Amino acid sequence: MMYLDNNATTAIKPQVKKAVLEAMEHSPLNPSSVHASGRAARKIIDNARAKIAEVFGAGGADIIFTGSGTEANNLAVSGVKGYEVIVSATEHSSVLKAAKNARILPVEENGLVNLAELKKVLDSCHSREGGNPYSRDGEVLAVEDRPVAMDSRLRGNDTSVLVSIMLANNETGVIQPIKEIAALVHSYGGIIHTDAVQAVGKISVDMADLGVDMLSISAHKFGGSQGVGALIMRKGITISPMIVGGGQELSLRAGTENVAAIAGFGSAVENLQENLDKAEEIKILRDYMEERIKSIVSARVFGEGAARLPNTSCFTMPGVKSEVQVIEFDLAGIAVSSGSACSSGKVAASHVLQAMGVAKPEAETAIRISLGINNTKVEIDKFIEVWRGLYNRANQRNAA
Ligand code: PLP
Repeated sequence: MMYLDNNATTAIKPQVKKAVLEAMEHSPLNPSSVHASGRAARKIIDNARAKIAEVFGAGGADIIFTGSGTEANNLAVSGVKGYEVIVSATEHSSVLKAAKNARILPVEENGLVNLAELKKVLDSCHSREGGNPYSRDGEVLAVEDRPVAMDSRLRGNDTSVLVSIMLANNETGVIQPIKEIAALVHSYGGIIHTDAVQAVGKISVDMADLGVDMLSISAHKFGGSQGVGALIMRKGITISPMIVGGGQELSLRAGTENVAAIAGFGSAVENLQENLDKAEEIKILRDYMEERIKSIVSARVFGEGAARLPNTSCFTMPGVKSEVQVIEFDLAGIAVSSGSACSSGKVAASHVLQAMGVAKPEAETAIRISLGINNTKVEIDKFIEVWRGLYNRANQRNAA
């Protein structure tokens, strides 16, 4: 099997398997117990938390372990109370569905959030409340000049704005200018969450550098196991739990922690540099593949004009439906994905491509290739040959 679906999930790294097994061998492990075995479990969790804080520039932040990236996103956008929520149209469905009554920001043709539109929405949120108290005459006020009362908004005591925009898109790989967006949102006194689930392991992710207040990650997207993710929150951000009934994870996620999976999560984070070291090599392979495909037929690569994750490519095979392609590739022993089908197994029109203004018939011919750290040029050459054969056969059939 040639696996070109690494945005759906990745192979568990050997170091992760070892860490998971080691934790299991030390069972029983309940980190809430005060006895020695409980303390050993707590230590495993604390170690993983410390690694996450270090690697993601999140020193001093609260790190809440969740059951998945989906849950981390739900916690972030539905946990804030009394906030007006603004999300982009290309968010993962775990943000879109959780952010009820959210304002949806349009994106440009290349998949980037329209910053002028975001500014307009932020302006309109503040105009209802008597203007933006964080700026005067169009200039952002220095922290010391801001009205003191506004600080309470950051603690969730008043109506304020939460903006949730993903760092990188799962279908197209398009990378949003989160640092710039965070500065803009903060200049309006709002808070910002970013879904960094796809970015981790492909580009460097540093919470302090990005300047975001909340950030979601998921272990299985970079060599960890499924069943564990995290919401990282800047100290001082107040949210409400979705799951109650226990004091675990600062009472924000009740339920005994998945100690073994968290041990693996820590190991995946510890070994993340291996992925980043290969990112340039992977990008060269991805670009080579796109060039070869475009030399066969005028396939369209979505988000091509924007900064993209090095491993991701979403492109069309003119005249051939995605589901036909996915099945044909599978028969040839190649795992690829069609748009947003990764969560449901069913093929639905991609809301991401539609938000980018792609007409439905064209969007329905797109597949996503997402390379991993072990893919080779030999594999890519084979993929291109299968792609060419499939395209030729399908078009002969269409012509007949
Ligand atoms: N956010 C993005 C951008 C994703 O691509 C995914 C999964 O594909 C998720 C969130 C959900 O992560 P998980 O599979 O851990 O629930």
